[in-house]
Amino acid sequence: MRRKPLNTASRSKLSKYAKPLANLAILLADAGSRLERRFWKKKLFAALAPMLEGRSDTTLMQTLDHLYSTNYRAYDELAFSIENTVESPELGQEEDILLLAAPVLAWSTYNIPSGKIEENTVAEFTALLQKNVLSDHAHLVLTNMLFSPDQLPESYTAAAELARQLGQAAIDRVKVRIDTENLPATQSFLSDVRYLIGAVSVPAGQPAFKWQVEAHSNGTLLSKEEVLTNWRLTGGQALQKIMPGCLLELMLPNGLYNACREAEKEARAYSVRASAAFLESALDVPTHKIHASVGAFVDRGEIEEYRIGFSVEGNSEIVHGVVWPLIGEEYGNEPDPVYEKDIQSEPDNPVIRSKIEALLKEVGIRQIKVLEERFPLEYCEDCGSPLYPNPEGELLHAELPEDSELPSSMHLH
Ligand SMILES: [Zn+2]
Repeated sequence: MRRKPLNTASRSKLSKYAKPLANLAILLADAGSRLERRFWKKKLFAALAPMLEGRSDTTLMQTLDHLYSTNYRAYDELAFSIENTVESPELGQEEDILLLAAPVLAWSTYNIPSGKIEENTVAEFTALLQKNVLSDHAHLVLTNMLFSPDQLPESYTAAAELARQLGQAAIDRVKVRIDTENLPATQSFLSDVRYLIGAVSVPAGQPAFKWQVEAHSNGTLLSKEEVLTNWRLTGGQALQKIMPGCLLELMLPNGLYNACREAEKEARAYSVRASAAFLESALDVPTHKIHASVGAFVDRGEIEEYRIGFSVEGNSEIVHGVVWPLIGEEYGNEPDPVYEKDIQSEPDNPVIRSKIEALLKEVGIRQIKVLEERFPLEYCEDCGSPLYPNPEGELLHAELPEDSELPSSMHLH
């Protein structure tokens, strides 16, 4: 379960708080039986709960960072345990809590809405999720807000605080209203993800989701796919009302971290499809005349993401670009402990690369160039937008030609 490596390559000694946490994760990773695993897990959860309440993000990040380069299995155990502890705060003996996210992929040449949702709409989504996704034991409290990725809690402790607040509201059967006035601004993209966020409470030990309990007449359980189909049918109509002008694809609602990772993975292919359709209409160029240049971008000796630069046949200017970040287990085999390896010698990720190629072909793009060289993660110094490779392997800013039919509200980055 590989996650994104952290942004500081701290080689310093672990703090007195980080050290026991790292040890617990190592002991858990080395456990030889289920009995022993359960023992260490319980200890680890008990150590994490007060840290998440006490705003100890620095300690958590330092420990994760240390384990990432010294004991990968322990890193994985710790990351997973932190996520679990965040999503399911202990709020008494009688109820289990899960912080829930329902992601929706959207694309539009206008702004994709985010922010406040009206009361009656919150009630409608709550009822639809309750009916189509959650078990009859579950009680759901949704926030009155459609979150953009920029507005999701940015640290583990912030997410834990939201989980406690929503979880308590679910137990008390009261509404939660978020102050939507002072939220971070949402960056505008051609395609993006939005999230409904809430908390589910169930009596301790009871199932939270339909796929855990609901059975067909022949006794087989409802699959996640069937649950998703039902949610797409009903939730899709309701979301369309608050996201006019957007093409939507609803994803399976689940625990926050799982739902976000799955949505981020799907969003990449979604955004390649959106880009092809967009370029065809904005530039009035058939897809077979569009050229895609795919490059691998590295940071600290590891491929961090692929970037796809789109240009039009006969011109090497980049008209549009898509970033394809690697997520979770897609990272390379072992992290490089020194981060100073020759950038050119880093092995490629052939699975992802061929996935990107297949997808570009699927949307009708025939001229695809996969560049051999590795690129540094470069951004525009003025606006911070990523730079994309052209067929010659130069990194360029994406700019639509001036005569293209682009709505003025659209911001191309
Ligand atoms: Zn710029």
